[in-house]
Amino acid sequence: MSYSQLNDIIKSSKNILVISHINPDGDTLGSICAMSEIIRNNFKKECELLCVSKIPKTYEFLPNISKIKTLESFDKSREFDLVITVDVAAPDRMGDAKILFDKAKSTTNIDHHKTNKGFANLNIIDPDASSCGEVLADIFKGLDWKINLETATCLYTAILTDTGSFRYDNTTEKALKSAADMIAIGVKPSEIYKKIYESSSKNHVLFQAYCISKTEFCENDKVAYTTVFKKDIEKFNAPEDCTEGLTEKLRAIVTTEIAFVVRQLNANMSKVSMRSKSKDVAEICEVFGGGGHKLAAGCVVKCSVEDTIKKILEEIKKREI
Ligand code: 5GP
Ligand code: MN
Repeated sequence: MSYSQLNDIIKSSKNILVISHINPDGDTLGSICAMSEIIRNNFKKECELLCVSKIPKTYEFLPNISKIKTLESFDKSREFDLVITVDVAAPDRMGDAKILFDKAKSTTNIDHHKTNKGFANLNIIDPDASSCGEVLADIFKGLDWKINLETATCLYTAILTDTGSFRYDNTTEKALKSAADMIAIGVKPSEIYKKIYESSSKNHVLFQAYCISKTEFCENDKVAYTTVFKKDIEKFNAPEDCTEGLTEKLRAIVTTEIAFVVRQLNANMSKVSMRSKSKDVAEICEVFGGGGHKLAAGCVVKCSVEDTIKKILEEIKKREI
């Protein structure tokens, strides 16, 4: 069983690095912080944490979050006995942290994305799990590792955010039971809800209102999309995670089948965030080298925002919607 293999490899590794994905969300951050806590408590050793992107302020309440280093403050020549990735669907989602993954003596990939091809020595992937946090909860329970309040806070956050506050179709009986286990340990749902969903800055909300106001519709309003340009982010002084939740707002329109947001990364590089009500958008994003889940996926396209929109619409129109 791979769970016991994970136990053995952590036990025998002196230096361990855990990596989360680029543009981190609540699932990857809850998971990386939970790994740090569990390794400290069950193995009496400190691991190191790495994320190539800036950590959104929203998640500053998570235990161990201040331990996460960026690549700039990391010695890239180091070699780790073990590198663990959490919620990382594909190697390129590590960003340049992949250099450290590639050099590691041993690698483990813990995830729940159906598009994850298993790129590590040990792969623990459960595509039926709501979140990487739920996969971790299964592992910790399976191995009888003690889940304290700090770990429970991290895992609850991971499950809460990846299920869209227990609304999406990954809100299974098991996901809710897992979250309930964390509440039994002492997590207070209303406190975490406030920290994540009712702590936005004024600029953030006004910025999203602006983005929503310029939404374009096509295919009889079945497709809704908007754009996010660097200059607008600067104008509104919006935070790094300013697009978080934006695509969902376009999907909320009754006629919408597919919603997407194209964010300018630079003149020739755009990030697409796609959501749907029933169509497989992971498959569309895979055409561009991305992936994710059936109803929530993303990709990075090496094109301007305008050309990216054209290419995405072409792919959508090839399918029945
Ligand atoms: P978001 O739109 O919130 O950035 O991502 C939605 C889902 O798609 C997440 O589960 C995320 O892991 C996945 N995803 C987003 N961007 C990419 C990408 O560039 N490549 C892959 N493989 N998955 C992505
Ligand atoms: Mn996830």
